[in-house]
Parts: sequence; structure tokens; C-alpha cells
Amino acid sequence: MQIHRKSFGLRSQIQESLDNLYESSFINDLRQSGGQYKVNDLTFYLAKVFGFCWGVDRAISMAYESAKFFKDKKIWITNEIIHNPLVNDNLTKLNINFLPKNSDNTIDFNLIKNDDVVILPAFGVSKEDLNKLHGFGCHIVDTTCPWVSRVWNRIEKYEKQNFTAIIHGKYNHEETIATASRSDKFLIVQNYDEAKWVCDFILNDGDIDEFLLKFKLATSFNFNPKTDLDKIGIANQTTMLKGETEQIGKLFEKTILTKFGPSYLDEHFMSPGDTICDATQERQDAMLSLIQEPVNLIIVIGGFNSSNTGHLQEIAESAKIKSFHIDGVNCLISANKIRHKIAHESTIVTSENWLSKSDVNIGITSGASTPNQVVASVIERIVELSQT
Ligand code: SF4
Repeated sequence: MQIHRKSFGLRSQIQESLDNLYESSFINDLRQSGGQYKVNDLTFYLAKVFGFCWGVDRAISMAYESAKFFKDKKIWITNEIIHNPLVNDNLTKLNINFLPKNSDNTIDFNLIKNDDVVILPAFGVSKEDLNKLHGFGCHIVDTTCPWVSRVWNRIEKYEKQNFTAIIHGKYNHEETIATASRSDKFLIVQNYDEAKWVCDFILNDGDIDEFLLKFKLATSFNFNPKTDLDKIGIANQTTMLKGETEQIGKLFEKTILTKFGPSYLDEHFMSPGDTICDATQERQDAMLSLIQEPVNLIIVIGGFNSSNTGHLQEIAESAKIKSFHIDGVNCLISANKIRHKIAHESTIVTSENWLSKSDVNIGITSGASTPNQVVASVIERIVELSQT
């Protein structure tokens, strides 16, 4: 088995295809001219940073290069390479095949033959899945983003020192599943409220059964909240809200300080270091600037299962600006109807009267896995609908 973790040096051969599929000269020009676009009565405000991040660009490029480098071999991918439906559909056109899933949603590896190629997505795969792949003697193209690997290194450090990893993330997100699999002892908290609940449990000798019920899908096997929370290290899904990760880290630090006293803090607590990736941070910062603009409506574009996209819309929502998370132009059904995802939930709904005549200043941003062409088509569609 051979693991490839770097480019095959074929970028120049695939660049034109990538540009044709994902880039937009309209968006590039708009960015260069300051990010404002006036048309009819509308003014669009583009976030200063949006769209493909470095890790997504790298993963897509490695997949396209693999199709060239291994052109005579059968190529599989374990999961969506990134959370964007268009990008994933396009991979199948390159003869990259998605491995089927078992009924319990685990990956069915049985179709892989010796000498096949298996691509791992930007979020990585769990340690168990990687071990299974080792048994097939196949070629592995590992596109795991180095920012994600950085968190894994952190987790392995906790593991070596017998610390429990407290992971700020979503227990069912591929990246968090992969991250948690690198630790024998972990607890996943989705937000500050859950972290607060755990800290109250630590300080007030809470009820074990209640704890285990509440976190039954978010703890490692045989987790004992009475003993496994005495030595903890903080980690995160790279796409969570940075401010929230920091708050959660501080809350746990304060809790451990209260429980064990300042002289023993280092024996019981390890902070996450700098593990929110730059791309997530830059897109969140750009969103924080966008909500300062005089916008009446913000459209956030990205896959419905894209965590970083969801968080961008949460920022707009907390600023009480009318906003919608859509996954592409097809969501803009008419000037009356929009299909969108509800913040903090996985529910997709259709709402009415989303675009009123007074919505003349429109903010636009997109998640780290959204091609610029999708952003361009959304702007074009809004202009078209505003005239109906
Ligand atoms: S959002 Fe960050 S961690 Fe995720 S792929 Fe992009 S650069 Fe990597």
C-alpha cells in the first residue's frame, strides 16, 4: 500500500478544467473592484473573504490529479470530498466512484481490490477506517487538510498523557468522527450551553446516568464522567465558531482551576492552542464586517451539511439580519419562495416572501467549499427575481 499526501505535480494539466468548472470572472472582477455591485435598484455587498479555502482547493486538485495519475486504475472515494453537491457530482464524471454505505451508515469497503485507488476526503477518515484500508494493499490518496491533521496531533498528545479530549464539534460530522477516533477517551460538546452543563456536573457532583444519557452519542466507549473529566484537553472541529471555542476553553479552564486550585492546573488542563483554521477565521471575520454594512438581507451559500457555512449564517442571525442559508441557485425558486436550511438544525424548509421590494442592499457570502460560479449564479438569479 502506498499513501500519497501531496500533489502529483499535475496542477498545470488540470487548472483549465478547474477554472471552467468553478471560477467566475464576474466574481473575480467584483472582488478586485471592492466587492460592491450596483444593478437596477439593488446593491450587492460581497464579504471580503468567501468561497474555496486553501484546504478545499488542495483536496479537489489532488482528486483531479489522481484521475490523471491513476488513469488506468479503478478509483474510489470514501465520502464526499467536501460539502458541496456540485463538486461531488463532478467527481463521478471523472470516474471517481463513491464507496457504498452499509445500513448503519459505515463505509462498505468490500468492493475495493488490490491495486485500486482510494481517495480520502478533506475532513479525513476515522482511524478504524484507515486501518481497514491498510488491509487492501490499495493506493491511498489522502487529501486530509493539514489543519485537521494539526488537531489530530493535539489529540494524540492528550492521549499520550492520559488526558480526555473535550472536542468542540458536532458528534455526527465526518471531521469530528475522524478526530474523536484518534482518542481513547473523548467527550464532544456542540456549544457553550453543553459545555456549561458539563462544567456544572464537574463542580456539583452531577448525576452520572443523566450525563451518560445526555451525551450517549458524544462520548468514548465506557466513559466515566466521575473520573474521566479530571484531566482534560480542549480540541475542536476546525470549522466551529472561533469565539465559541475560545469561550468553551476558558470555561473548562476556570472549572478545573476551581476544582483543583491554581497550583495543579497544568496537571489537569491543556488548552487547544491555535487550532481554528485561518480560512474559517477569515470567513467569520469577513461576515462580522459584512453585518456592519447597511444590508437588509444576507444570502449565505454552501452545502447544507457544511458546518462552516451554517456558522456564517448564525452570525447574521445573531445580528438580527434577515438571512438565508441556501446550497445553490435552485433554492431561489421564485421571488416568493426560497428553499433554505434553518440555523442550528438540519431541517430544510421552503419559506415565502423572502425577497421584498425594500430589500435593496443584499449581503452575499459563501462557505469554504462553495465554487465562485455558484455565487455568481445566485447574484444573477436575485437580480432576475427582483424584476418580477
Ligand atoms: S476550512 Fe480550514 S480545515 Fe477545513 S478544509 Fe478549509 S483550510 Fe482545511
